[in-house]
Amino acid sequence: MSIITNLTRMWLTRSVKPFTFTNEYDNELPYSKCENLGLYVHIPFCRSICGFCPYCKVRYSQQECDRYVDALIKEIHYVGGQSEEKKRVTSLYFGGGTPALAADRIKEIVEALSEHFIITEGIGLELHPDDVTVPVLEKLKAAGVTKISIGIQSFSEKYQKILGRKKVDIAMMSAALEQVSFETVSMDFIFALPEQTAYDLKKDIDTAFASGANHIAIYPFIDFTFAPSTVKTMPKKEKHRLLDEITEYCNQKDYERRSIWTFSSEKQAGYSSMTRDNFLGFGCSATTLLKNQFKINTFSVDEYCKRISGNTLPTALTIRFTRRQRMVYYLFWTAYSTRVNYADFEKFFGVPLKKMYGGELLLARLLGFITEDSEGCTMTPKGAFYYHYYENFYTLSYIDKMWGIMRNEAFPDRLEL
Ligand code: SF4
Repeated sequence: MSIITNLTRMWLTRSVKPFTFTNEYDNELPYSKCENLGLYVHIPFCRSICGFCPYCKVRYSQQECDRYVDALIKEIHYVGGQSEEKKRVTSLYFGGGTPALAADRIKEIVEALSEHFIITEGIGLELHPDDVTVPVLEKLKAAGVTKISIGIQSFSEKYQKILGRKKVDIAMMSAALEQVSFETVSMDFIFALPEQTAYDLKKDIDTAFASGANHIAIYPFIDFTFAPSTVKTMPKKEKHRLLDEITEYCNQKDYERRSIWTFSSEKQAGYSSMTRDNFLGFGCSATTLLKNQFKINTFSVDEYCKRISGNTLPTALTIRFTRRQRMVYYLFWTAYSTRVNYADFEKFFGVPLKKMYGGELLLARLLGFITEDSEGCTMTPKGAFYYHYYENFYTLSYIDKMWGIMRNEAFPDRLEL
């Protein structure tokens, strides 16, 4: 697997140089001139831990959560205070973990961020289905949250059991969503579970839209090597057929494809924390992407709090990109939205995309992966599947390795991918 990702990396970056992360860090983050900057806040607490989940999380306790949020607010003021004027940013996303477990303090976090940033495209937050109650939703709304994403994974008892999740109380969730409205109500599902059929997934999709969702995200199951889950992955052919059937079904229902795995039933509904040119991440395991560098914070809640109390940023690893590496990173994540705009690329890098990757665009067109118009290129359904397929390799070769190390070492010396 890593042969494919290594060869692709060498081809696209025109270099044998690997992606090298080191433990160097700066206490100043040069974000003030970055355009299209997003914000991300990580809340790593969960009531119980799901075996399949690769994210940075620990068991919830009120005391630990409060200590962590105090550190988070300190980090926000520390980084936010580095810009002389209030910085306009796109959106703010809260991920986890289960951010709703800190519902009582979300307003405080948003207020701390609002002292330094002007959030122009709304605030998104992830919820566990158990947290979809009127009191929690009202607190989130009062804090300024405009989009929520509920981690359903599956409405089917069979798959809930396989994933180690309990039954979702659909009636309770739906009643709460009816009472407290949000611009986007997204529900997350996992597909390509053992023997899962298009019928199972269509049922999940129908139930989601009938229970208050106006947006859905259907992510493929990925078997991370460090996750204790024993769930097996589905063969490629079956997965391809399943993704095609879901896409076809959503098209028939007039749900608009918003990215590789997301569909919405209403124009205004969108939920994506991934497609930003630059972003600042706060909290443990959060990542920061700036013009020429990418940083990842320590995964250890304890070490995170210690660093913040010593007035140093919690960065564990940093990579300084070469120009081509940054282009590959930009294209990979922009392509997630299924479209790359030529003018945006040229604005960001000061050079036309066709000049840098003209041959690759031609090849992608000939293979039927993209269509082109005067303003940019759009991924076809075939391209979307192969993007997804490559993303799986990338996840297993890069993210699996990085997160596997970061879970065991708070501050690794070096990492090469
Ligand atoms: S899937 Fe959600 S609830 Fe389960 S451990 Fe991961 S973040 Fe926590």
